[in-house]
Amino acid sequence: MQVYFDNSATTRVSKNAADKAYRIMTEVYGNPSSLHSLGIKAEAELTSARKSVAKSLGADEREIYFTSGATEANNLALFGTVESRKRTGNKIVTSAIEHSSVIDACKRLENMGYEVVYLKPRDDGRISETDLQNAVDENTVLVSLMAVNNETGAIQPYNAVKRIIKQKNSPALFHCDCVQAYGKLMIKAEKIGADLLSVTAHKIHGPKGVGAIYIKRGTRIIPQHYGGEQESKIRPGTQASALIGAFGCAVNEIDYSAINHVAEIRDYIKTFVETLDRAYINSPKDALPYILNVSIEGIRSETMMHFLASREIYASSGSACAKGKQSHVLTAMGLSKQRTDSALRLSFSRLSTMEEAEYFCRVLKEGTESLVRK
Ligand code: PLP
Repeated sequence: MQVYFDNSATTRVSKNAADKAYRIMTEVYGNPSSLHSLGIKAEAELTSARKSVAKSLGADEREIYFTSGATEANNLALFGTVESRKRTGNKIVTSAIEHSSVIDACKRLENMGYEVVYLKPRDDGRISETDLQNAVDENTVLVSLMAVNNETGAIQPYNAVKRIIKQKNSPALFHCDCVQAYGKLMIKAEKIGADLLSVTAHKIHGPKGVGAIYIKRGTRIIPQHYGGEQESKIRPGTQASALIGAFGCAVNEIDYSAINHVAEIRDYIKTFVETLDRAYINSPKDALPYILNVSIEGIRSETMMHFLASREIYASSGSACAKGKQSHVLTAMGLSKQRTDSALRLSFSRLSTMEEAEYFCRVLKEGTESLVRK
């Protein structure tokens, strides 16, 4: 049995999405900017996908711009807004547990002279509203807070950000990295008060290399690329029409009700892990059920991952981008080195099954017993 519990790194592309990409690549292959009928048909595919993404976020289709993924969307949100607001202020508030595409962009902005506040999470992995309230001020031009953390599944107080910005009389815009929440929690851009929001296709059974940024109408943003007129000049360059078409397909297949099935799988594994010696659950109780982060102290993540992989079980030690480096998320939560060194991130999808969970638990127990002895 092959068990794929690394869905927060990426998901299997759905058949409809893959078929759509193939059809666009081989039949509707015109350049969406071309004026002949093949171009017009390709443009229609973009429009249809844009409508799907817009609808899923409760947005207008003119507020959706396709990018190469969420890394690009996050970079555009950060660099594009602060550059347009230089005279307003120079402070950015974010968290210490953001994805590296936000953290590293913020580090660059610090080098450029911006002041960046990286809020630390509480020990449950959540950023506190009080800390947000204390950090946001009249000099803050941007608050960037993710909706769900990609290592622990901790749901962040994204619903409170706009209210805090208003309370503090701050000119700040709110950017929300919704990559791990998208398609799982019902996120509507306007409802959560986001001015900018990033999503990516490959975490929702779409292809890698395509994502989107929502930019609320009227929000000024300086493009970070220059070239053609595509994506209203916000993101020029020939659109990846096949990937975008497939993205639209994956969005149409979002199933919010799958969260119940995923929660059963997560609960089964969590209950089992709690029976093991020296095992800890690093995800908070009220985390998004799609992610479960655990540590079995004394067994290094890599060692356990290799053991699991030898039985065709695929999980990860943390963010795929960190490639085995110590997790900045678990460290920021104040977890001991022993616990961060042994962290395993299990991440599920609507395709995960209870049989896989049972097999995983059997193999995990076997691994725990044999590896601890070594
Ligand atoms: N933000 C979060 C929270 C993520 O988990 C990821 C992917 O791992 C990204 C951003 C980057 O997305 P992409 O792979 O589309 O660049």
